[in-house]
Amino acid sequence: MIRQERIINEFCELVSIDSPSYKERMITDVIKRRLEAIGFKVQEDDAGAKTGGNAGNIYAYMAGKLDAEPILFCAHTDTVEPSGGKRAVLHEDGRITSTGDTVLGGDDLCGIVEIMEGIRHLEEEGIPHRPVEVVLMAAEEVFGKGAKAYDYEGRGLRSKEAYVIDMSGPAGSAAIAAPTLIGWEARIKGVAAHAGFAPETGINAILAASRAVALLSPGRISRDTTMNIGTIKEGIADNIVPDSCIVKGEVRSLNHGKALETIEQIRETFKAQAGPSEVEFLVEPHIYAYHTPEDHPVVKRFIRACDKLGLPGTLVSTLGGSDNNVLAQQGITGIVLSCGMYNVHSTREYTCIEDLLKGAELVAELLKDEE
Ligand SMILES: [Zn+2]
Repeated sequence: MIRQERIINEFCELVSIDSPSYKERMITDVIKRRLEAIGFKVQEDDAGAKTGGNAGNIYAYMAGKLDAEPILFCAHTDTVEPSGGKRAVLHEDGRITSTGDTVLGGDDLCGIVEIMEGIRHLEEEGIPHRPVEVVLMAAEEVFGKGAKAYDYEGRGLRSKEAYVIDMSGPAGSAAIAAPTLIGWEARIKGVAAHAGFAPETGINAILAASRAVALLSPGRISRDTTMNIGTIKEGIADNIVPDSCIVKGEVRSLNHGKALETIEQIRETFKAQAGPSEVEFLVEPHIYAYHTPEDHPVVKRFIRACDKLGLPGTLVSTLGGSDNNVLAQQGITGIVLSCGMYNVHSTREYTCIEDLLKGAELVAELLKDEE
């Protein structure tokens, strides 16, 4: 039996340990000990040193009695802010919320406790399972910084297939596609001048930037592509012709080529509208799109497990990134499972006891599957 009281207690205990991105030390130590108690061989890599955080990624391995390839479960140890002093509040209807002034951290503690309880249950009952790797990444909330810094050479992953447990909604749905996400920044350079004495000697960078911005159309460009203009900065005083204006935004697309095309259009628009101003255009790809085919074994195993547990087994695509984008770059085929987190990245975040139980059952079911 998956034990309800134990999973609730574990969830609430972990919530009470703050772990904002780059400051996952305490929770990392606690989780490592718990994984060891379940029977895992546990290591930690040096990702923290590479990213400026105080903890690395956790790597854990356990052999299994089933003669099958290992599979990887992945979640993340960090949370977004505000998280200081967070505490879990248990409600009579089975919901678990924060106290209302911080996030709950169910993103991604739901995933972590479901993985641990699911495997603990298999071990306790002596139920044969596949070999299993668990990787818990640090600094996921900053475009997967921890996963990008994972020591793939030294702690090479044996699994070819992964379940990343890090999506909103009740257990039983999975993302099989996620986008390329590229940040862009247009730096428009004009010439400063006194607005009253010599305006004709100046080149107004804000004017040039505005012409370009007016021609761009942020929002949903097509079914699979979005573009945003997020911030505009500059201008020093009302009486100075501004010599600089920095416009920043992002592009997301399930189609990597379309993301690149959209970036090119933005670049061209700024160049064309700059007039006498100069434009420096910077691009930073954060994550790359993946698409896991519906007939891939990693998807079919998920559907079989959902059938057994009476879960819907819904397949979706998402315009949000996760560590699965980074794992896909490493040649690991995975999908992202919903795990009972709701209203994430807000102080209204919550989860439900029922969801934690279902999520743990799903982890166990996936590991019992021999195919
Ligand atoms: Zn997350």
